[in-house]
Amino acid sequence: AIPLTYFAGIGKSSKRGILIKGASYLDTLANIKNIVFDKTGTLTHGSFEITNINSVNGFSKDDLLMYSAHAEANSNHPIARSILKHFKKIDHSLIKNFHELNGFGVTCSINGKLVHVGNDKLLHRENIPHPETVCKLDEKSTVHVSVNRLYAGNILLADKLKESSRKTVDLLKSKGLSVYMLTGDNESAAREIAERLSNIDYYSELLPENKIDILEKKILKSGKTAFVGDGINDTPALARADVGIAMNGFGNDAVVEIADVVIMGAEPIKIVESINIARMTKKIVL
Ligand code: ADP
Ligand code: MG
Repeated sequence: AIPLTYFAGIGKSSKRGILIKGASYLDTLANIKNIVFDKTGTLTHGSFEITNINSVNGFSKDDLLMYSAHAEANSNHPIARSILKHFKKIDHSLIKNFHELNGFGVTCSINGKLVHVGNDKLLHRENIPHPETVCKLDEKSTVHVSVNRLYAGNILLADKLKESSRKTVDLLKSKGLSVYMLTGDNESAAREIAERLSNIDYYSELLPENKIDILEKKILKSGKTAFVGDGINDTPALARADVGIAMNGFGNDAVVEIADVVIMGAEPIKIVESINIARMTKKIVL
């Protein structure tokens, strides 16, 4: 039988915008040892500003914006939404054969031209010739653009930490939890964010399946583990962790469906609150 206080705990959480999908998750939450965060859209806003556009091979900066925005028009990735903020005149009739390549970027045909938009892994995977120097642009998140397999240049983007991220990490550590960040973003962008979060442990340049590998090989063995994510690319890790916590509840149906705990709103501090409620409920039960 489920003790009545569990229902009180679940009720209390829901009033604070934290939806817990069952008593057993309240129990696990009270006992977690590790908490693993996705970076983009979870610890950071996922709302990037364009800091630089480098065009080559006869393309202009406007060409780069035009191609990337059209290629990203059908993607929900934070990078896509951010590029679209900077280019509004999308002509949907030009876009054909759109494909999202999870962990790499997007591809489609625009006005009959084959366009690729994504990270350096995408350039390698698709064998698109490019100057070697552009792979280690040693700062920021980088989006490469190619048109008919000709390298057209790159767009550099910068993201910002959410207001409560630093405090959240500090409070979780002070509760004795081990805190990690996993990201598909490049090493330097990841390092910059980790440094601003009291140097939390992090792994960068991960594909969605690599995130599962790290969870299984490095983290899950040491104790009950929560994974916190916001995007469709996080669903495998949300499912694999002992507790999957989705941020920005109701933003994304598939994510909300797979998560065990759903947090309304964007601020990670709610996670501290949910652990507090879980621990308090547990104490009352014992
Ligand atoms: P994360 O949320 O940890 O950054 P993702 O798997 O969503 O992980 O993305 C990993 C990387 O793949 C991104 O940092 C970006 O370089 C690239 N990427 C994924 N989707 C897109 C997209 N729609 N447009 C451009 N780049 C993308
Ligand atoms: Mg994310």
